[in-house]
Order: sequence, then C-alpha cells, then structure tokens
Amino acid sequence: MIDDLPPLRDVIARHELNAKKSLGQNFLLDFNIIQKIALTSGQLDGVTVIEIGPGPGGLTRALLAGGAKKVIAIERDERCLPALAEIAEYYPGQLEVVEGDALKVDCTDLAEGETRIIANLPYNVATPLLTGWLTGNDWPPFYSAMSLMFQKEVAMRIVARPGDKAYGRLAVLTGWRCKADIAFNLDPQNFTPAPKVMSSVVTFTPRAKPLPVKVKSLEAVTRAAFGQRRKMLRQSLKQLGGAALLERAGIAGTRRAEELNIEEFVALANGLSG
Ligand code: SAM
Repeated sequence: MIDDLPPLRDVIARHELNAKKSLGQNFLLDFNIIQKIALTSGQLDGVTVIEIGPGPGGLTRALLAGGAKKVIAIERDERCLPALAEIAEYYPGQLEVVEGDALKVDCTDLAEGETRIIANLPYNVATPLLTGWLTGNDWPPFYSAMSLMFQKEVAMRIVARPGDKAYGRLAVLTGWRCKADIAFNLDPQNFTPAPKVMSSVVTFTPRAKPLPVKVKSLEAVTRAAFGQRRKMLRQSLKQLGGAALLERAGIAGTRRAEELNIEEFVALANGLSG
C-alpha cells in the first residue's frame, strides 16, 4: 500500500460511487499502475499537480505519496467529494479540491511554482481540454509537463506524423507547441468498469520556442486542409486563398494535407491575410 488510507474498492463501496458513463468514469484501482502514471513525467518532489477528475482519488493519493508538494484536483461529480475530503485530511494543506466542470476552469490561475497536469482524463472531454491547454496565449505555458490518459485512438492522433493515417489537426496543434510521446498503453481490464477500447498515457513537454504563428490562423488552415484531406491543397484551400496562398508559402498545390509537416502548415497560416 502507498498510504494508510482504505483500499480504493472499499472507498468506492462506502461512498456508493457506482460509475456513471455520462461522466466518463472508468476508475483505476491497482496502485502499481496508478503509481506508474503519477511518475511518468519524472519525480514529483516540490511539484504542484493539477489533476482533472480525481474520482475516488487513486491517482490523487499516488501523486501525494509520490512527493507532490500540492495537488489541485478538479472534479465535477459531487458524490466524490467526501472521499476526497478524507485524502485532504490525511495530507493536511496539500490537497485542494475544486468542484466544477474542468472545461470552465482556467488552470492558469491555479498553477503554483513548477506545475504539471497529470490526469486519467474523462474521455468525453479529453480533446477539448487538451486543445485548451495547447492554445493558451502565454508561452511557455503554466505547466512544465503533462501526463494524460486518453483512448488509444486519440493518443495515436496526438502523436501522429505526416503520412500516418491518424495525422490531422490534433497532431499539428500538438506538435507545434509540444513534444508528445505515448509512454505506455493500458488494457481495458485495468479499469473498473472496463471501457471498450485500449487506453494510452501520453507525455507532453512544451517546446521552448514554437514557430511564431497565430493560433486562429493555424486552426483555419488545418481545418480547411484536413476537412478535405484526400483533395489537393489547391482545392481544399480555395476559400483561404488557394494557389496564391500556396505560392506565398512555397508549397505545391498538388500536395495533400496529410503530407505537410508542421513548418509548412505554419508557413501557410502566416500567409493568411488578417
Ligand atoms: N482519477 C480517477 C481514476 O483514475 O480512477 C477517475 C478517472 S475517470 C476516467 C474521469 C473522472 O473525471 C471522473 O471522476 C469524472 O467524474 C470526472 N469528470 C468527468 N467530466 C468532468 C469535467 N467536465 N470536469 C471535471 N471532472 C470531470
């Protein structure tokens, strides 16, 4: 055991935390796995961790037992609050629980010193949460690293390279601002209840100097280009300037979105007027 608190199965039974599908609740109960996730982006001593969706608190406990200075946990399901209060009592002053929808919380305001985001994300809001953290105005961002669990299929889209089937808007946005890697995969049986799909933990390290470009422009070109990913760019980018735009960026109009690297998307975005 990592602490003297009760096993997670007992916590879940005592607080009647039957998993709700609508909240993306697939709990991790095995502390060997949970500890591995907590430490994926390195030792936690002196680090503040922002955790999304602590649920019954397994990862929260591993983060605190692993040496995190503080955990700020955002949870939407009020049924979990009494279980989290027990953890807060065990680690006085080190666990702050924010009750609410993580999509509506500005995490920039929560960061304190070296801050990481570490979470077994609710799958229904995982992509918008990630996009929000990648597209902030301030760079370097409020986090020094992120370790996040996604469905494997989404993880593949995050780390995809040009030419990969999964390469698209998410990979361009991620690769522009961060270095992202799949740390390890987890079988459905590791979760309670077991989801239908495999899961992956992805680590993100912010790039010190991402290529300068407006987020809005980058989103506009990737939306148009990947919206018609099989078409040649001179066709898919027609609304944004077509041949003239491509010429300004030095990119042949016969190429397709899935072949372009991040530098080329940035060149296109910087060629947009306005
Ligand atoms: N951390 C726990 C674990 O690893 O066992 C639970 C992870 S579970 C996949 C996702 C958690 O996110 C649930 O506790 C759920 O209630 C919470 N959640 C779902 N939607 C949320 C939202 N919009 N904001 C904050 N928490 C949310």
